[in-house]
Amino acid sequence: MSKIGIMGGTFDPIHYGHLVTAEAVRDEFNLDKVIFVPAGNPPHKKARKVTAGQHRYMMTILATISNPKFEVSTIELTKKGYTYTIDTMREFKEMLPDSTFYFITGADAVLEILKWKDSEELLKICEFVAATRPGFDISELEKELDFIKEKHNKIIYKLEVPSLAISSTDIRRRVSEGRSIKYLLPEPVERYIYKNGLYKDN
Ligand code: ATP
Repeated sequence: MSKIGIMGGTFDPIHYGHLVTAEAVRDEFNLDKVIFVPAGNPPHKKARKVTAGQHRYMMTILATISNPKFEVSTIELTKKGYTYTIDTMREFKEMLPDSTFYFITGADAVLEILKWKDSEELLKICEFVAATRPGFDISELEKELDFIKEKHNKIIYKLEVPSLAISSTDIRRRVSEGRSIKYLLPEPVERYIYKNGLYKDN
């Protein structure tokens, strides 16, 4: 039975925070691979216009190409309308019924998990790994995880990942201000951003 990590995100753009987290979880949980799933039209990112899927897909490919255990899926990008994690996970389950899935997410997102569409079913069909950063106050997270354990009989794993204070928001802002983004993300992604004039008018 294979163990597959699913790393969902807007990846606008993908950066070392995402990559370090995915590799740390893969290593710790002995996963056979991690599939990166760039989000299609996520309902929670309505406030800002997300960069075209083809660019986010290309950047995710460029960032993951050197790791043989990383893959990229277009499962959400090819869907019309809002995309929800439960629909994506149902599809993965159908395609690979003998695999165990580990959904990798930041600790902040885990706090909202019970508000996600069909969260009860989601907790049944996959494992969850909440990535925390050293120094992150985990008291809220602990409370939520205790609640999920009691109410849904589900243990959500936690993993402390080396602190990387990198965010896509900060990278977009830096590009628009003409500042450096070196060493925040893989070089081919940096070059792709400049070549295609992304984030200039962020
Ligand atoms: P934005 O700044 O546009 O909100 P982001 O940098 O948070 O973007 P997303 O694509 O929204 O990136 O994140 C995808 C997943 O990666 C989420 O689960 C998020 O918690 C996690 N993540 C984002 N940045 C980091 C980081 N620096 N270290 C570890 N995990 C991260």
